[in-house]
Amino acid sequence: MDYISTRGNYSCNSLQAVLKGIAPDGGLFISPEILDSPFDWKSVLGLPTLEMAEKILSHLLPDFTGMSDLVKRAYTGKFETEDLTPTVRVGGMYVLELFRGPTSAFKDVALSMLPQLITSAKKQSGASDETVILTATSGDTGKSAMEGFRDVPGTRIIVFYPHGGVSPIQKAQMATQEGRNVKVCAVRGNFDDCQTAVKQAFSKINSSGMLQGMNKTLSSANSINIGRLAPQVVYYFKAYSDLIGYGRIKAGDEVDFVVPSGNFGDILAGYFAKLIGLPVRRLVCASNENRVLSDFLHTGVYDKRRPFYRTSSPSMDILVSSNLERLLFLASGCDSAKVSSWMKDLQTEGVFTADDRTMENIRRTFCGYCCTEEETIRTIGETYRKDAYLCDPHTAVGIKAAGDYKADNPDDVPVIVLSTASPYKFPDPVSRAIGLKAENDEFTQIDAIRDATKVPVPAALSSLREKKVLHDDVIDREEIIGYVLKALEN
Ligand SMILES: *Cc1c(COP(=O)(O)O)cnc(C)c1O
Repeated sequence: MDYISTRGNYSCNSLQAVLKGIAPDGGLFISPEILDSPFDWKSVLGLPTLEMAEKILSHLLPDFTGMSDLVKRAYTGKFETEDLTPTVRVGGMYVLELFRGPTSAFKDVALSMLPQLITSAKKQSGASDETVILTATSGDTGKSAMEGFRDVPGTRIIVFYPHGGVSPIQKAQMATQEGRNVKVCAVRGNFDDCQTAVKQAFSKINSSGMLQGMNKTLSSANSINIGRLAPQVVYYFKAYSDLIGYGRIKAGDEVDFVVPSGNFGDILAGYFAKLIGLPVRRLVCASNENRVLSDFLHTGVYDKRRPFYRTSSPSMDILVSSNLERLLFLASGCDSAKVSSWMKDLQTEGVFTADDRTMENIRRTFCGYCCTEEETIRTIGETYRKDAYLCDPHTAVGIKAAGDYKADNPDDVPVIVLSTASPYKFPDPVSRAIGLKAENDEFTQIDAIRDATKVPVPAALSSLREKKVLHDDVIDREEIIGYVLKALEN
């Protein structure tokens, strides 16, 4: 029973943790024991990415058998490059490109793997029920999850996204999704409304026995699932290994990572990498104008009672960062009573204050920087002109934060910025940033960017405009449960 709930009332093995997604007491699964147990991290450096993934995932999820096959099935032939996540040099820093997968967003790394983990966990534990994935998305998760789960036997996926809260390309990607077992629906309200409503629907359906006799189990593809977090640990090792390959560091030297953050999953995976041995000095949390996380890292007060901004980096337009709960748990010395009370405060008052000891622990590794809309656009333009690198707005938030961080910490430790999306996923802000003339639709903008920059367009994005819209439902939050139950009838 390696995995325990951050709220303290549940434990299970890694198979069950992946299948359940969220613990029955409302907490998130974590295994302090595994994160603390010896892992021969040096032995994975220099391995081909899939072998590296197999070793790391076997450590983090020890109950899974046949990890090598699962990894191969998840990734082979699905990414633009065989090493999945290349690291490139940009100006004085490094950029870890996580967007070379089927939907051009970093979430593909985890969501290609999660269906394999779920299917395998079911087989190993003798479960025969259908897994129903319910997911709220701020834009990228939904598409990536549907692509990962489409037509995977024994699974079904229903995705909810904020109506008007995703980019036209993101919307087109979701609305044209094929697959017999997928459903997509827009919900009126912003992402936090949508995510909260989906979480509530999830627990209500589960606790009320609405699915009784249907042989179906709900699960989540959001980054609260440990099966989504674990595959993200791998690319931190991969980047480190690349820097050794470039002769920039040798095994044992420290590096800093800068991570454009929203739900805090990506950066938390970096912390897991550090805990199992990778010499990570600092993890820099980069926020857009919804700077609740970078404010928290500075003040110790997490306060979501603030205006919500729609920015050009919509996947980070989040005021409730679910995965922070896992960091709070670890940094408080696994104090589930404290974590529970903070989460209760957040739910009832919209704010909580972490104690000084916990904040001290967090600040030993984490620091926060934020980036305004104007700075985001300027950074895309400057990075393109100065360093001949075209980045998307999420990545730009990271690059800006990295520059500010480096100005505050001028030393020779290399900085690696995680690049989370292809610039072609967000053609409107990108074309503005590099000074192209205004176009009415995003597809024309994509062509204009390609013509101006000669950066190749990912195949799945260039074929999008010919695809048929298959999903156009729009509902209110209150209708989610009814929508799910209806979808499950047929
Ligand atoms: C999801 C997402 C993020 C934020 O990642 P978290 O794990 O939620 O912090 C950043 N950029 C892009 C493009 C994303 O899709």
